[in-house]
Amino acid sequence: PEEAHLMSSALAFSEKRASMIMTRLDHTFCIEVGSKLSFEALLRCYKSGFTRIPVYRKDPSCVVGLLFAKDLILVDPDDEIPVGAMLSFCGRSLHVVRHDTTIDKLLAAAQTQHSHLFFVVEGGPDAPASVAKWPPPISNVIGIVTLEDVLEELIAAE
Ligand code: ATP
Ligand code: ATP
Repeated sequence: PEEAHLMSSALAFSEKRASMIMTRLDHTFCIEVGSKLSFEALLRCYKSGFTRIPVYRKDPSCVVGLLFAKDLILVDPDDEIPVGAMLSFCGRSLHVVRHDTTIDKLLAAAQTQHSHLFFVVEGGPDAPASVAKWPPPISNVIGIVTLEDVLEELIAAE
């Protein structure tokens, strides 16, 4: 029956975890905090097509900020501004989830924290989700998960 089907798909949905649906770090477009926003760098950001661009220090697993592509419209390529300088006036808050967070909890966190993107960490905080303000870096990042990834699972589960 219809109800039984819906219940079993909801169950399957709640068993999936952040690490199973995330975009892995090696497939994530991100930029180094010390790099300069040259014309080429800005072009790469633009061409990536992504709205949210994680900022890391030295290693992509160490996230220190998040930039929105739209924040870059004010940047003059000739100034070659370091990414870190941009973070200081338009960095966004960072939202974190553990790799084993079930995606029903992830969906709830996205709603309560008004966030579309979460950094998925190996180990990390005990709470299912937490908010960190820049500058404290988030270490042990293994990927990112967005609301889009969660909604895709919800639809696929039907
Ligand atoms: P929006 O739809 O809000 O403009 P977007 O198109 O940049 O954002 P999402 O729709 O949130 O991105 O996600 C689409 C897919 O792209 C998801 O699988 C997500 O994990 C992935 N994604 C989002 N940002 C990045 C990024 N910076 N690098 C690689 N993949 C990303
Ligand atoms: P996303 O598109 O990833 O949801 P965002 O721009 O909506 O990002 P952030 O800039 O990452 O939000 O800000 C994070 C937190 O700041 C959110 O939890 C939200 O509650 C709060 N926030 C964002 N914009 C405003 C605002 N204009 N007024 C009050 N609080 C805000």
